[in-house]
Amino acid sequence: MKKTIRDLEISGKKVLMRVDFNVPINDGAITDSKRISAALPTIRYALENNAKLVLFSHLGRVKNESDLEKNDLKIVCDKLSELLGKKVLFSSKTRGSKLESMIDSLEEGSVLLVQNTRYEDLSGKKESKNDTELASYWASLGDVFVNDAFGTAHRAHASNVGIASNVSESAIGFLIEKELEYLEGSLTTPKRPFVAIIGGSKVSDKIKVINRLLEIADKVIIGGGMAYTFLKAQGYDVGKSLCEDDFLDLAKELLAKSGEKIILPVDNRASTEFSNETEVVVVDSDKISPDLMCLDIGPKTEKLYGEVLSDAKTVVWTGPMGVFEFSNYNKGTFAVCEVLAGSEAVTIVGGGDSASAVEKAGYEEKFSHVSTGGGASLEFLEGNILPGVEIIGDVK
Ligand code: ADP
Ligand code: MG
Repeated sequence: MKKTIRDLEISGKKVLMRVDFNVPINDGAITDSKRISAALPTIRYALENNAKLVLFSHLGRVKNESDLEKNDLKIVCDKLSELLGKKVLFSSKTRGSKLESMIDSLEEGSVLLVQNTRYEDLSGKKESKNDTELASYWASLGDVFVNDAFGTAHRAHASNVGIASNVSESAIGFLIEKELEYLEGSLTTPKRPFVAIIGGSKVSDKIKVINRLLEIADKVIIGGGMAYTFLKAQGYDVGKSLCEDDFLDLAKELLAKSGEKIILPVDNRASTEFSNETEVVVVDSDKISPDLMCLDIGPKTEKLYGEVLSDAKTVVWTGPMGVFEFSNYNKGTFAVCEVLAGSEAVTIVGGGDSASAVEKAGYEEKFSHVSTGGGASLEFLEGNILPGVEIIGDVK
């Protein structure tokens, strides 16, 4: 068990905390502040327990001078002050005497946000390459470290792994704690039946997840673009649907090995073009004509998946069932959302697009857990170690 912020002595201490404030910004305004809200519980806990809190986050990518202004964290600082109902100090620099004196004069229960950690990427990618000088400098600014940035936990950067390697004590925050509780819990001690739903565009993107979930789950529903590689492997014609011929042998192998676990679409919503404007045709999986491109699962499949999910006790879902960005082809994904929203099972969503589909459908609150880290959750489901979590000490 990883140490959490509850296990640290933080009163009166300078607490360095990595959060994920990488929010979407459009025309100089934050369009979704969910990531800021998600960090509030740990921030509040630190402040209530008299920490002198120093926050680090990245925002966007910084490759050239021209990326600096649009990725300035000041806008996030203002939003955080508003959501926290408390003034948040801001250091416009990632290092230097001004930042140091601001930290030195922090009062207990007050908070400072440091400029975008990726400003350090401008000369030599110091943040992203976990530069040792930068990591030890940032670590020298505080006493203990808390990582609560799940979204970047799959990367070893100076502001997470680097600081953690250079402070005496480190812990995870409540956001990462919850992510681990659900993601790890579902994979190690799932209540059964455990049904996995895997969708999205390509088999190649998700092959490790497919393999792992086929080992652990009782049933694996495969939808989205990747289903057509499996249908073709079964001998069906898939027309113009997304299909990775290089993965046909693998799909055949998986079907031979665990065919009884795999559930594929029996019908589909299709069209002649990758477009929301052309006519929608519903077609059974064994009758896909050469001119058709399947863009969503069909109504019979929705029903079938609903039946498979009806007695599930644990469901892990990653990847939409169709091209949910098009209103004609979001139906399968939304149907699965609806089934899971009404389910008694522990329901977990991982993957960036799946999470935004759940949100778009308005069902976010009905799930047990919607991961805040698209890439990180996927790596976790693949069985990869997350360096940002791995570096944190265990409870003795
Ligand atoms: P996640 O981010 O949840 O892991 P992916 O990135 O793997 O999901 O896949 C999401 C993408 O898959 C979406 O952009 C969606 O349009 C695409 N997709 C889903 N079904 C199909 C399909 N039948 N044909 C083409 N693309 C599809
Ligand atoms: Mg995606």
